[in-house]
Amino acid sequence: MEKYLLPDIRDLHRIDVYEAHGGYKAFRKALQMKTEDVTEEVKKSGLKGRGGACFPTGLKWTFMPKQSDKPKYLCVNGDESEPGTFKDRQIFEFNPHLMIEGTLIAAYAMGGSISYIYVRGEYGKWIKMIEKALHDAYAKGYIGQNILGSGFSTEIIVHRGAGAYICGEESALMNSIEGDRGYPRVKPPFPAQNGLWGRATTINNVETISNVPLIIDRGWEWYSKIGAPKYPGPILVGVSGHVNKPGVYELPTGVPLLEIIHKYAGGVPGNKAIKAVFPGGSSTMVLRGDQLEGVCMDAESLKAAGSSVGTAGLIVMDEDTDLIKVIARIAKFYYHESCGQCTPCREGTGWLWKILNRFENGEGRWEDIDLLLDVANNVEGNTICALGDAAAWPVQSMVRRFRDEFERRAKIPRPKVLEAVAV
Ligand code: SF4
Repeated sequence: MEKYLLPDIRDLHRIDVYEAHGGYKAFRKALQMKTEDVTEEVKKSGLKGRGGACFPTGLKWTFMPKQSDKPKYLCVNGDESEPGTFKDRQIFEFNPHLMIEGTLIAAYAMGGSISYIYVRGEYGKWIKMIEKALHDAYAKGYIGQNILGSGFSTEIIVHRGAGAYICGEESALMNSIEGDRGYPRVKPPFPAQNGLWGRATTINNVETISNVPLIIDRGWEWYSKIGAPKYPGPILVGVSGHVNKPGVYELPTGVPLLEIIHKYAGGVPGNKAIKAVFPGGSSTMVLRGDQLEGVCMDAESLKAAGSSVGTAGLIVMDEDTDLIKVIARIAKFYYHESCGQCTPCREGTGWLWKILNRFENGEGRWEDIDLLLDVANNVEGNTICALGDAAAWPVQSMVRRFRDEFERRAKIPRPKVLEAVAV
């Protein structure tokens, strides 16, 4: 397939090379369009967010107030910190102007006066690259006042995070930009009504916004025909774990997971069997390796399989993987990253980790298996932000789909009465 987000063009990060390959053409075209037509084009394309929530991008843009005498803001979320997710940094490094062009088009469509590109603090090298690209775009007159004589003015600022996973949650991200602690906000009100500094704000993921120039340049009909009909477009799939060629692969949505693993990522070392995969980063529900036939990197397909597309960070685990160790490590991550605002998440993530730690250390009890589910079920859906769900889902799915692993590791044997029932 032709690559659009990360094409094989040498030095594409340079603005002259980007322009020579049609860069900023879509922005010029957008400036000739009515703002509502730009939004409509994105809406009709079917583009959905690539940051995990899968929300329709064009629809999100329509939530912004049309008329407002107050400033409006756009945040581009590049705080990618999910274990197994490392795709946005490819855009930062190899095609930053595509993201900048998408940001400009989005700002124009929504009347955004300032856009913030929020990048995780650990991405020092990539922050420098984005800043250089922005500097060059300013110098060429694509950003600033009266852009290209259109009368449209907008600014773009890079904001460096400080190492908290939770700042990738959109409302925590806004608090962080405002200089406050990265605490998620209770919603409603939603950012389009009450965002940065109380003003209308839209937050889009880096990859999502990088799809926008393609749509404006080639039209929504062309875009909507790429990949899976209900989740169209190119997608950056980050493959990690037990594969011969881990990396980021640009593919149309809808490619079977087994094809991604074997054809693109070179298969599993030693031709071992696949025991399990997280299809979209560590917060998505784990799938059994023996049930991957026909499952595709597509929101619909993964939902039907009992998981979600998340950030398309495909983590592959071979037959020798200690899944208890894996899930205990993931639980520790969410426990560590919980901001502590709400009790189910603050306490529940810690309890999940402690129980899983017992199993890892050979101290797990039989009743701990259902206790894990009980705790996870009480975290899920009972918190301010989605980190609670992100902590609960991998544990729930691991227990439900690999219960035998927990039973084998339980120190206290199965109660006699249950054995009798099982017989
Ligand atoms: Fe903080 Fe967790 Fe509540 Fe989110 S769910 S607000 S991370 S305590």
